[in-house]
Amino acid sequence: MLFTPTQLLRLSQGQLNLLERCPRQFQHTYLEKLHSPTNPEHEELQNLGSRFHLLMQQREMGLPIDVFLQTDTQLQSLMAGFAEAAPEITNPIINSQAFRDSEHYRTLQVNDYLLTVIYDLLIADTTQAQIFDWKTYPQPSNKRQLEQNWQTRLYMYVLAETSDYAPENISMTYWFVQSQGKPQSIQFNYNSTQHEKTAKKLQQLLNKLNKWLADYSQGKPLPQVPEGRKVCNYCQYATRCDRVVVLKEHRPVSDNNPATESMTSEKDNTNLLNIINIEEVAL
Ligand code: SF4
Repeated sequence: MLFTPTQLLRLSQGQLNLLERCPRQFQHTYLEKLHSPTNPEHEELQNLGSRFHLLMQQREMGLPIDVFLQTDTQLQSLMAGFAEAAPEITNPIINSQAFRDSEHYRTLQVNDYLLTVIYDLLIADTTQAQIFDWKTYPQPSNKRQLEQNWQTRLYMYVLAETSDYAPENISMTYWFVQSQGKPQSIQFNYNSTQHEKTAKKLQQLLNKLNKWLADYSQGKPLPQVPEGRKVCNYCQYATRCDRVVVLKEHRPVSDNNPATESMTSEKDNTNLLNIINIEEVAL
């Protein structure tokens, strides 16, 4: 967790996701900076994501990208697929008056917190503002959970709070770009009701964080999730928390209670964990 010079706590969407998912996980990761051995698969995924983001940024800045493509066949394949699926992004209209900015950084202060967002691409004109985000892993099948992810909520919330655009004129589109299969996109349109909801949820979460941090400074750890939650099965701190379980088989989970986290299959959970776990790609 980063402190700004004025001692504001800087919070990203990834940190909000973790905080909501398990406060103890947030504590180990951001307050104590504990790190488990690197998972090679995860590292490879992040590495590819970084290369793709860099390529998209170079392209947006009008810098040559051929040298990257010539030496990187994986990137070449990603780019070819994406250019075909989204020509309006890779080949924008010349002389368009729209504002376009890659790796667009914004902050919003809420109480003692500085909420930070980085849009992979922002395209804005006189009527609407579109946020784009690139992912180099499969599209999750549960759109609802992606909508509820703090990346979606925070990104649109911060833009509405820091610009003149009405929530109704803001959207966010995820592009899932992979070497195999066609790139796919999911778009979310924002509105005033969602904006108010997010404001409320955010305030509730930050109020809890205030209390947890005050307790932590007195030596009390942040809360764990209740025993038996699936989130512990995938957690790097399971041993530390004494929550290690043996997974017997991979089968779809059916739990119709929307209040629980068991709304998706194991595969969906893995995909969503990818989204939750993968921090903003650093360029
Ligand atoms: S093992 Fe479970 S309780 Fe412990 S940090 Fe991970 S998710 Fe939280």
